[in-house]
Amino acid sequence: MRIDLHAHSDASDGSDPPAEVVKNAYAAGLDVVALTDHDTVDGYLEAVAAVAQLPTPAAGRRFGLVRGIELSCIAGHVSLHLLGYLFDPTYPALVAELKLLRTDRVRRAMAMVDKLIELGAPVRWDQVVRIAGAGAVGRPHVAQALVEAGVVPDIPSAFVPEWIANNGRAYVEKYSLSPERGIELVKAAGGVSVFAHPAASARGGIVDESAIERFAAAGLDGIEVDHPDHDEATRTRLRELAESLGLLVTGSSDYHGTVKSTPIGAESTDKAAFDALVLRATGNSVVWR
Ligand code: AMP
Ligand code: ZN
Ligand code: FE
Ligand code: FE
Repeated sequence: MRIDLHAHSDASDGSDPPAEVVKNAYAAGLDVVALTDHDTVDGYLEAVAAVAQLPTPAAGRRFGLVRGIELSCIAGHVSLHLLGYLFDPTYPALVAELKLLRTDRVRRAMAMVDKLIELGAPVRWDQVVRIAGAGAVGRPHVAQALVEAGVVPDIPSAFVPEWIANNGRAYVEKYSLSPERGIELVKAAGGVSVFAHPAASARGGIVDESAIERFAAAGLDGIEVDHPDHDEATRTRLRELAESLGLLVTGSSDYHGTVKSTPIGAESTDKAAFDALVLRATGNSVVWR
């Protein structure tokens, strides 16, 4: 089975509408896809509707959609991402935190635009609003504004110290949860949690293994070992760490449509790990076609 547990839509900073993420996952031959937008579940219902409209699968084939999220967390000044799956989206404490996270993303993006203008980059807030649309606003949207302004040639070129890389000149921190709080919230909402790309330095920072031990003790279910940003040596090390801490191992593409070059389904999670996650979750079910 091909199981991709990490994909973004335009409900956050991916380029595909949620229905297109589902269609693309199905067309790529995937058996399961999880929609994991940053700090929002707004795309989920559109994705569910798209599953219902997929062609009837061939005999013996099923296609599953997993409700997910990628929560912004911070440990010290290291920004981390926590994937949550199959939680109850109406759990009040989770709803309240998502509202804070979403609201502060707007404040922070406005502050980054102000800094960029001070640095002489001719970007405008209304441009970022147009690019983000109804989605949770994030740095890739600000990066696109920098592309449109002719400041950088493409989105990755904006993620440099001169512009909006972590702690770059125009970088502004956003409200984020402690990883332990994120893990606890997802669990309390009946879901399961997986530490996203734990060793992808470009996406935040790296915490040491003792931090991952603490997250495991706080109830973390798994770590995303197979991620496009992890080299072979990193994957081997993380697999051993997962084994020693009793954590499940996942693999996922972190698909962002045209915002990044990784195709959907580029990495995959073993069926056994997927089944274990589903079995542990009580907050929500996989939607099957
Ligand atoms: P934010 O959550 O607003 O801080 O934005 C983080 C998002 O920016 C990540 O989830 C990636 O989608 C994207 N991103 C982070 N680092 C890079 C990078 N070096 N190149 C391209 N995109 C990046
Ligand atoms: Zn993203
Ligand atoms: Fe991430
Ligand atoms: Fe992601």
